[in-house]
Amino acid sequence: MNSGWQYSPTSVARTSGVNCLVSGLVGVVTVFGASTQAEPVLAMLAVLWCGIGVYMIAAAPALSRRLYLSMHLSGLTSIALFCTAADGEVAALCGIFLQLLLVTPAFIVLPNRIAWRTTVLNASYIAYLGLAVGNLHPVLVINAELTLIAIAISAAWVQSVASTSEIDDLTQLANRRRLTRELDARPGTVTSGKIDAIAVVDIDHFKAINDDFGHAAGDHALEIVSAALRRCLPPEYLLSRSGGDEFTVLCTSGTIAELSDAVDRVRAELPPDLTISVGVAGRQGTEAARTTLGRADRALYESKNLGRNRTTVHE
Ligand code: GH3
Ligand code: MG
Repeated sequence: MNSGWQYSPTSVARTSGVNCLVSGLVGVVTVFGASTQAEPVLAMLAVLWCGIGVYMIAAAPALSRRLYLSMHLSGLTSIALFCTAADGEVAALCGIFLQLLLVTPAFIVLPNRIAWRTTVLNASYIAYLGLAVGNLHPVLVINAELTLIAIAISAAWVQSVASTSEIDDLTQLANRRRLTRELDARPGTVTSGKIDAIAVVDIDHFKAINDDFGHAAGDHALEIVSAALRRCLPPEYLLSRSGGDEFTVLCTSGTIAELSDAVDRVRAELPPDLTISVGVAGRQGTEAARTTLGRADRALYESKNLGRNRTTVHE
């Protein structure tokens, strides 16, 4: 299931790297003004980008949002470079406009820290396009730079708000919103293809902890369980607090047996008066992740019925 291209920050960086390299080569050819020799190279790249465009349209249902946006970003960068190659005022203005369009996708695709660096490149490129290529009035160029900064600040803000709202305040694990996003990823996409097995973990008699020792003790129990999950499960698994005293684990690379062993290690780490019941299910074929979750939930129900403090695997 996990064969083939996988989304990861590394692979996005690699995609962007190829884009930068290709764009850079076009830039070098353009800057050195070898216009007649450059023409066949530019024509070849134009054909290449047309091919990528066709692939993006054809493969769109199977592309993850991030991969799609990375390619979108690459396309816009290349168009900007073609504007540079075309030379002149109108071409420079088109190029500047496209640079402004690049900012928001960069903040969606890349971590904010990296996106700010690409924004600095966008700003330099706008200055080059405006002053060297188009010979535009400096006030116009300054205006474009200020617009770029305004777009970058709002894109960074929206992105940081979106990412923090996917984290549970108490445990700092992913929250239900994040879990829902992963579960509802379009079937066949890289994101949905990552889920191999699911475990649902629920604290036993949690109400009694709250009732007997107070809400703060209940919160502390939640923190103990989430810390044990973090310690015992591989870092690439998605750990989420999916309900009051319920945690859902998405195993993104591994077998159902590995997941089941890992949650048993969590149980062994907990203090004797704090126990958990777990239901585990493996993804069968290309079934929807929510179907796997439903089977893990049924296995959890069985663990509770069989006396709690155990793991049940749904066969
Ligand atoms: P079971 O063994 O069958 O799981 O029983 P249980 O007592 O654990 O029952 P249940 O899972 O229904 O208990 C959930 C309780 O969790 C109910 C709610 O008051 C409490 N709860 C929900 N969110 C929080 C929270 O953030 N902090 C604390 N302290 N309690 C919470
Ligand atoms: Mg419970």
